[in-house]
Amino acid sequence: MARPATEELRRRNRSALLDQLHRRGPQTRAELTEALGLNRSTIGALATDLSESGHIQETTGRSTGAAGRPSTLVECVPEAETVAAVEVRADRVRLALVGLGGTLLARAEVPLEPGADGPEAAELAARLLADTPAAETVAAVPGLVDAGVVAQSTELGWVDRDFRTDLERATGRSWRVADLATAAAVGERSRGDAHRSPNLLYLHGGRGVTAGMIADGRPRRGSSIMLGHVVVNPGGQKCRCGLHGCLEAEMGTFEQSATIEATTTAAWMGDTAAREVVHRSGGLLGRALGSVVTAATPDEVLFGGWLRELYLSSAAAVRSSLAEATLPQLRARLRLRTPALGSEGPLIGAAETGFEALIGEMR
Ligand SMILES: [Zn+2]
Repeated sequence: MARPATEELRRRNRSALLDQLHRRGPQTRAELTEALGLNRSTIGALATDLSESGHIQETTGRSTGAAGRPSTLVECVPEAETVAAVEVRADRVRLALVGLGGTLLARAEVPLEPGADGPEAAELAARLLADTPAAETVAAVPGLVDAGVVAQSTELGWVDRDFRTDLERATGRSWRVADLATAAAVGERSRGDAHRSPNLLYLHGGRGVTAGMIADGRPRRGSSIMLGHVVVNPGGQKCRCGLHGCLEAEMGTFEQSATIEATTTAAWMGDTAAREVVHRSGGLLGRALGSVVTAATPDEVLFGGWLRELYLSSAAAVRSSLAEATLPQLRARLRLRTPALGSEGPLIGAAETGFEALIGEMR
């Protein structure tokens, strides 16, 4: 049976108020009134309602105005709704339990055996999760992910792995599975510095190079962009994907994070051979990026994982080869930078994916 229109509206406003507090942090009733475009009495009724359901609390907070009178702030109660975010990498499984408002409540990590398959990684996730009272569970996995299936992951060595089913079998809960680069892009947009960029590209360097995209403020549907398999040197090095001259194959030196650190450090110290490797790799990265920028027209590109080190060591080479591969009009508004959240981006973004669903369901 359809809900009456007033009940529908009340639920929608309640969800909007909670979303505002979750994303923007503690605010006064006056600030909420302005942000949501609702009148004061409506905000008052919603605040009472959400306070009774245990989602928010009102505290005496910061001073405002010339008189310095402390104002009452409305804020989320972190424990009221929680999301468990899991990140699966080649050598570890990490878990973060995040509360409403983005508060980190707990975290844990266990090593993953090299070559572990989906069920093994899911068992570790189940062990970390134990009896955590999370309302939503979201996993971030490096590679090409679609509808819970990891179609291809260079880093994990998985092909067509139905990881959502693995997780559901191991934990008895329902899961969302996101690709790591897209999760990191969501994290940067919601909790990093990128909230003003509606079109954002997050490049992730792990074992393999992928890119996640936000378009018009929404994560690109489906999966990440396989940037590592953009051909930058036709007829060049044979790639593990079967093609020749892919970015990943041509940047072979950068397969392991230890190699990257050693090479970029040596380049900083003035080692000529290392500088050449870094310069060449930066140039190849810029060329591959050029194709994606032309197709996707982002406002901002973030270099995550080991691409961060490479970008910081070869920004001039990245920019000059990007300039050769894109139109000036697309470059003019493009910002290149490193992620504000560092390596926490994927976990934070996975948690935000869960909160978006949770708060959305309250409507
Ligand atoms: Zn390839």
